Amino acid sequence: MSQIDALPPLRDVIATHELKARKSLGQNFLLDLNLTAKIARQVGDLANCDVLEIGPGPGGLTRGLLAEGARRVVAVEKDRRCIPALEDIVAHHPERLQVLEGDALDIDPTLHLTAPIRIAANLPYNIGTELLVRWLTPPRWPPFWQSLTLMFQREVAERITAQPGSKAYGRLAILAQWRCTANIVLSLPPEAFTPPPKVSSAVVHLVALKEPKFPADAKTLERVVATAFNQRRKMLRSALKPLGGDIEDRLRAAGIAPTDRAENIPLEGFCALARELVH
Ligand code: SAM
Repeated sequence: MSQIDALPPLRDVIATHELKARKSLGQNFLLDLNLTAKIARQVGDLANCDVLEIGPGPGGLTRGLLAEGARRVVAVEKDRRCIPALEDIVAHHPERLQVLEGDALDIDPTLHLTAPIRIAANLPYNIGTELLVRWLTPPRWPPFWQSLTLMFQREVAERITAQPGSKAYGRLAILAQWRCTANIVLSLPPEAFTPPPKVSSAVVHLVALKEPKFPADAKTLERVVATAFNQRRKMLRSALKPLGGDIEDRLRAAGIAPTDRAENIPLEGFCALARELVH
């Protein structure tokens, strides 16, 4: 195994700073720096970008991003115990790493970042989906970021990249694929982490498109999709009743059979329906 930097191995960092992993913070650490460097390489052009990292923990992915040449990394960590370990990395890269202690759900990191911005994270499982949905549904598009390179439980990664007709297809797939390209770029077994989680993980790479793939009002599309998949086994004419009005006519106008089910409708169909509903 080759050294990616002059800092101590992560096992030593964890021992020195007594960073026993806490389940409540979704802590499953990556200790293999060659693997974190490999994840960093999935992010794309790093040299000309600021990278926002959520949950750096003891700093494995942070070090991967820096070793792979990130212009700057801004890392937001909630666990105070990790801050001294991260400050040791700052000491090696004073111009290139900034650590913010706090909750990623509360902090506005854009104040500390300069465009172009990419986001990379081995996300805490308990807030991963919430952060992703926030990043995918800002008031204006394109968003503040160019790409997201995110570790999820494999099952969540499959929901983000799912195609119509599959069990995994739903709200996350539509929100992600409406305004981004989304691909699984790496798969990791539980043993890649310390402690190992119960399930496998995968890295998803999303690139923000300049324009959504099909026109639609974002709020209406979100409402239609949430309602349709709330009762995914029902025919759409029943599942979408909560939207009120002449839903069968609207479905037909959008080119969708009222007897069809949400999981068979492609993104284009949901966008057409969202347009019908704002008329
Ligand atoms: N990036 C490290 C790695 O790959 O080894 C740690 C990943 S671990 C899965 C998730 C990290 O997110 C932990 O360091 C945890 O303390 C941090 N975290 C959990 N909740 C957070 C929150 N709300 N805001 C910021 N960081 C959080």
